[in-house]
Amino acid sequence: MIIGIPKEIKTHEYRVGMIPASVKEVVSHGHRVYVETNAGTGIGFSDQDYIDAGAQILATASDVFAEAEMIVKVKEPQAVERAMLREGQILFTYLHLAPDPEQTHDLINSKAVCIAYETVTDKHGRLPLLAPMSEVAGRMSIQAGAFALEKSRGGCGMLLGGVPGVEPAKVVIIGGGVVGANAAQMALGLQADVTVIDRNIDVLRQLNAQFNGQLKTVYSTNDSIEKHVLEADLVIGGVLVVGAAAPKLVTAEMIKKMKPGSAIVDVAIDQGGCVETSHATTHSEPTYIVDDVVHYCVANMPGAVARTSAVALNNVTLPYIVNLANKGYKKALQDDKHLLNGLNVYRGQITCESVATSLDLPY
Ligand code: NAD
Repeated sequence: MIIGIPKEIKTHEYRVGMIPASVKEVVSHGHRVYVETNAGTGIGFSDQDYIDAGAQILATASDVFAEAEMIVKVKEPQAVERAMLREGQILFTYLHLAPDPEQTHDLINSKAVCIAYETVTDKHGRLPLLAPMSEVAGRMSIQAGAFALEKSRGGCGMLLGGVPGVEPAKVVIIGGGVVGANAAQMALGLQADVTVIDRNIDVLRQLNAQFNGQLKTVYSTNDSIEKHVLEADLVIGGVLVVGAAAPKLVTAEMIKKMKPGSAIVDVAIDQGGCVETSHATTHSEPTYIVDDVVHYCVANMPGAVARTSAVALNNVTLPYIVNLANKGYKKALQDDKHLLNGLNVYRGQITCESVATSLDLPY
């Protein structure tokens, strides 16, 4: 199969659909890879690295789209890219179609075979191609929070781990899933005092076992959230209710009563945020202050560490890419119901129920 890797064109997107190591792997299976020039230079992968891995470099995105049977990307195709898709061409990338009617209509009209990373499932019912970005965001949340606690950002001037003779900061993590567990691991590594709140008792059991009792686990109720948030120096919001906006677990009233100079990193901001006073921010202006509490609410945290994120994403997408290339999309989708769950638009037809329902389109 011929696989095409265009350079990402969304603003500030430096990740790339396939890194050179992934290219080498699919080439070893007998496939051809065309990469747009400079597709990986933003994160340190030169054209020469791709050539060494067995790819051919093409001058423009339109060359790549014209040659490839499968396009592998990171972000949803932009209008100019959608116009280059053609009937029967495979598109494998994040799509997030539910809130995006314009993109959905263009993909329907293209008659391409569009498989979305974010709806591919695994045998546990989880979303394996989303998990690495949650790992990145969870780990990053602690360094973002540490930064927010510095005086120059409006924080109280507290070091997360303290020093001998000085108490560490209290970190309260709401939601103990992928984001929460990774945040906990980083915060414990910095020797902070860590509490995780979740409404799923099995999640709390697992964290308690995983971290050998080094962190405190608390069952989530309005009461327990209020008590721990008011004692916290840093709150991490990492809740998810699948298919729904994040619940507002930290109210504006609680924010008013929090310690001055404390900080909140609302990772769940991409689902609307779990803090009433949160609104989405960007990497160029990541924080703002409400009632003396520093808020960090960047909706695409992994973008700041694009190299790590691209490699982490490739680690999980590569087996699917190899499978699609080896078997062709028909057999690959027939053989794997979890990959089939990723199929959002098939040759002019929406094939993902939640996308069709959200946009009131036929399914
Ligand atoms: P996850 O499903 O692994 O974990 C979510 C946890 O929240 C679960 O353990 C669940 O039991 C818990 N939860 C749900 N309701 C709760 C409540 N009322 N009280 C306490 N806990 C509750 O999800 P995840 O992969 O960890 O993602 C968490 C959030 O982070 C999601 O909203 C996701 O979209 C977001 N995210 C944001 C970024 C970013 O750049 N900002 C990046 C990745 C993920």
